[in-house]
Amino acid sequence: MSFGPILERLEHYPYEELWKELGPQDVRRALSRDRLEERDLLALLSPAAEPFLEVMAQKAQRLTRTHFGYAMQLFTPMYVSDFCINKCTYCSFSADFEFPRKRLSMDQLRKEAETIAATGLKHVLMLTGESRQATPMDYLVDCVHVLREFFPSVSIEIFPLRTEEYRQLVEAGADGLTLYQEVYHRETYSQIHVKGPKRVYRNRLEAPERACQAGFRNVNIGALLGMYEWRREAFHACMHARYLQDKYRDCEISLSAPRFRPYLGEYDPQSLVSDRNLVQILLAYRLFMPRAGITLSTRENGELRDHLVHLGITKMSAGVSTEVGGHTGEGTPQFEISDDRSVEDIRLMLYKAGFQPVFKDWDCLAEPAGQAIRL
Ligand code: SF4
Repeated sequence: MSFGPILERLEHYPYEELWKELGPQDVRRALSRDRLEERDLLALLSPAAEPFLEVMAQKAQRLTRTHFGYAMQLFTPMYVSDFCINKCTYCSFSADFEFPRKRLSMDQLRKEAETIAATGLKHVLMLTGESRQATPMDYLVDCVHVLREFFPSVSIEIFPLRTEEYRQLVEAGADGLTLYQEVYHRETYSQIHVKGPKRVYRNRLEAPERACQAGFRNVNIGALLGMYEWRREAFHACMHARYLQDKYRDCEISLSAPRFRPYLGEYDPQSLVSDRNLVQILLAYRLFMPRAGITLSTRENGELRDHLVHLGITKMSAGVSTEVGGHTGEGTPQFEISDDRSVEDIRLMLYKAGFQPVFKDWDCLAEPAGQAIRL
């Protein structure tokens, strides 16, 4: 069984009625439990939970300290190619837009990696658009080999692959995968993915599970908030994460709550997600999944990120560029970031807030032959 049939069942819930029906007693019951069930998660995401954010925050903080202490992992994304054959209505890399596309050569990749590694980071997230012509499997494998010369931990955020292809990247030394469903609501999914292989909803929905089966150590999923009604989207993303966590116990399952950001085009998000809404989502995620990693990106501004670190976050990006080759030169950003602070700035902010910034918590045994990791 995959998550597909479970999602089909969840899709039939009368959400509008549920958001009205769930009351303070449901929120209190959810807050009193150790292992939360479906209805508890719905209660925590419902309007009835809004007056309880402070109590939710206290419990979320306790759970985070129990499972993660004060550790905060740091990483940065690294874009290696912006070639893309999909037309997604919310992204600058969409095939709709004309700009000089770039794909890093292995020499350019090394220079980018060297620049990032000089900041002290040990964990990098490699990203591409979707183009099997521009970024075929052998290119992706080569990229992972090169990145492993510089970083003990390499994650990927690329188009969905088959299980055996994921396995090739794990064997090359990749240990983490990030893949957002973007939007769980099928009709909206089909409206915003206008053309290209990304239109196949099920292929994307099942990709995180294929990554678990292929042996990734860490799989991070989420919904791009703003594309559809946020309470329902957050509920489906979190249920997806719980399904993976229950089934693949040797894989660390993480959640992100990325909010839509400005880009080259003019897409208007359907569902505005306020800062308060975002806080409610993050707290509900932590209470429902006490052991899950929760990632906070630079889509959020510095001031908000400084506050959110106390609410269950376990991983943060720092020193971010969303351009191909953006750490050594310039390109077209995939979207605008809101927090452009350096790795050092984030490190100091975390120390001041009482956290331990963690640059390295993992080293992969599958060292590429003949290549030493620079520590
Ligand atoms: S979201 Fe991904 S698949 Fe869609 S256009 Fe952007 S890079 Fe391509």
